[in-house]
Order: sequence, then C-alpha cells, then structure tokens
Amino acid sequence: MRITLAELELHRINVSENYAPGSLDFDSVGFKQTAPVQLNATAELLATEIRIKGHLETRMESSCDRCLVPVEIPVSSNFDLFYRPMQTIAKEEEIEIAPAELEIGFYSGDGIEMADVATEQVILSLPMKVVCSSECRGLCPVCAGNLNLTRCKCTPPQQRGSPFASLKED
Ligand SMILES: [Zn+2]
Ligand SMILES: [Zn+2]
Repeated sequence: MRITLAELELHRINVSENYAPGSLDFDSVGFKQTAPVQLNATAELLATEIRIKGHLETRMESSCDRCLVPVEIPVSSNFDLFYRPMQTIAKEEEIEIAPAELEIGFYSGDGIEMADVATEQVILSLPMKVVCSSECRGLCPVCAGNLNLTRCKCTPPQQRGSPFASLKED
C-alpha cells in the first residue's frame, strides 16, 4: 500500500496491513520473518510533513550468537514517525533538526510505501545480540558440540597442563 500526498490532502488515512513472511526483505540483517507483520496506523499530512503513527507486531528468527540454535524473537513496536519531503532539505540544508525530533525520515516523490515503513520499524526493533538464554553455554571450542545439550569429554585449551598453554591460547 502506498500513502500518497494527493489522498492525504483530502483526508487522513487509516492503514491496516498484513505482510506475510517473505514479502518484506530482511536478508541484509540476517533475520528471518516467521509470522505476518501486522501493522495498524494512521497517516496524516501536517503542512508538508507526513506523520505516521501506529503499532506493528511480528515474530522474527535468528540463531543464538553462542550455540547457533534458532531463536524466535517477538517484535512489538509503537511508532510515531515524521517524514519530510526530500527536496525541502536540499534547499534548506542549514536547518538543524532538533534533538527531540529523533524519528524524522524523508520521502521523495508522491508519497510513502508502507512496506518500507514496516521493514524499517521491524529492523529498528531487533536486538543487537541474540542469545537463546542468558545461561547459554555455547559450543565446545574443541568438538563444536552444543554444551547446553551434551557434556563432551574434551579438555578446554586453557585447562591443559602445559605452563605455556595460556600464553599460546591468548
Ligand atoms: Zn544458545
Ligand atoms: Zn567438546
């Protein structure tokens, strides 16, 4: 769904969209979408700015940074976004964006593609680090077994008898 300036000039627009897994692109961030992105929002025109306020929910999946098992991440995000026309900025580059106006984006052409807004908001909600549990013990550095599931008999390198082992391993 595309929100156009022409329509916003007439009235505010209620957006209710459902993006199935695969319809939005999350390859670049290394996450997989496992449930529809459900987005509900209202779009309105404030002078030349488009304001989009609403909520979205979905589920994403990535692998644990330590043990590599798949981890599902519920995403729930409230947003209140302001988009300025791109050409205004080019002309008035000296205008400073106040620190309070953190959520400012830009649009070009006749409006905004809601799929782009949804993709951006999901990405902003993703955690920097993914772990299956704060107690995750990761993989054995010797045999690569998952230490949450198995107790292998490997000797961790730092516990070997040689007095030089710690020097070498560091
Ligand atoms: Zn883990
Ligand atoms: Zn091992």
